[in-house]
Amino acid sequence: MVMTEQAPAIRHMSQVGNVAGISQEEWATAVAAKAGPRTRIGAFEQVHVFWLAGMSCDGCSIAVLGATAPSVESLLTGSLPGVPIVFLHHTAVQLEAGEAYMEPMRKAWRGELEAPYVIVYEGSLADESLAGTGGYWSAVGEEGDGPMEGRRQIPSAEWARRLAPGAAATIAIGTCATWGGIPAAFGNVTGAMSLTDFLGADYRSALGLPVVNIPGCSPVGDNFTETVAAILLFLQGVGPLPEFDDLGRPAWLFGETVHRQCNRAGYYEEGTFAEEYGDKECLVEVGCWGPVVNCNITSRGAINHVGGCMNVGGICIGCTMPGFPDKFTPFYKAPPGTVLSGTSSRLVGSFIRPLRRMTQRDRNREVRWDRSSEPPTGWGASNAPTFVDKIVQGAYDRIRHSDTAAKDR
Ligand code: SF4
Ligand code: SF4
Repeated sequence: MVMTEQAPAIRHMSQVGNVAGISQEEWATAVAAKAGPRTRIGAFEQVHVFWLAGMSCDGCSIAVLGATAPSVESLLTGSLPGVPIVFLHHTAVQLEAGEAYMEPMRKAWRGELEAPYVIVYEGSLADESLAGTGGYWSAVGEEGDGPMEGRRQIPSAEWARRLAPGAAATIAIGTCATWGGIPAAFGNVTGAMSLTDFLGADYRSALGLPVVNIPGCSPVGDNFTETVAAILLFLQGVGPLPEFDDLGRPAWLFGETVHRQCNRAGYYEEGTFAEEYGDKECLVEVGCWGPVVNCNITSRGAINHVGGCMNVGGICIGCTMPGFPDKFTPFYKAPPGTVLSGTSSRLVGSFIRPLRRMTQRDRNREVRWDRSSEPPTGWGASNAPTFVDKIVQGAYDRIRHSDTAAKDR
């Protein structure tokens, strides 16, 4: 493990603020034990996950807490076969506070943890030199000598620098941590940047991995928990190294554009477009960037396979992309490429749509109805074929059967 400075001795180890009277590790171990004896699969029974928050809105934490496949609870209680119990150290959901909270991080820094650890970073990393004397943009814990009664707050970015070399894996969650996101948008008064930009292209974890990136603003919680579980199975030696793309994104989650899996893609293909929010058709002309954005939210859903941008009427603003937000604004305008692609779809669609409607009319009839003029329905709908329908469908059916007829002979 690389150490750039000495981890200081602990001054206070009280459980201030811990109303549960039990540490996170003790709680997770006790809950896992209640589930009965575990068959040990792999090298490790536990793994620590240190969740650091930089320039963030906490939306990534909320998204992950809503994950269902797998859920955070199943990771914390070791109920996934082969996956070690996760000792999560997260400022918002932690049982301990104060120095008791900080001590495992310091142990990890000193190389004294008895289990491997993973870093998760939420939010972008600020240039703390811009914060001014005695101030900070985002920090966790305090130590040493400084202007605040002899102690100083430790920037989250500094913790990332300390813990990253010894981490089994370093995961950036959300677009702020993966690409800089909104804090790094035009203006960027804090010098905000991504974890990859902060640690540099040469960074490798103790397992030899560059930063793993799970973007989204906020990300799909399942994308995160599924990737963590896959990495932990690899760490255990019971699973393959998950496949990542050139930007460190899980390839199986971010390999497709959101457009290819969108439930409105059929409207795009037929050249019918929404004119305003609330319309059911493709949203590209009211500002959707889906055709060029790597994201799986329309197929995965936002939470528990429900919701997700176009599924609920929203446009794609490219929130998973490194160019977000500056390269996607203004959000209310159609992407410039829409003029070309939308016009092509309209032209093709204007020809294809009537033909499909004709075939659909025919396929909405039982064969026996073709022998009478009206279907025996009391609902009032008449789908009697027109003369043109009969000619076209007659030709259509001859083509449909031509090959099979030849084979039958
Ligand atoms: S709404 Fe967006 S993602 Fe969906 S089909 Fe239209 S352009 Fe593609
Ligand atoms: S569809 Fe677009 S806006 Fe919605 S989560 Fe995916 S990238 Fe973000």
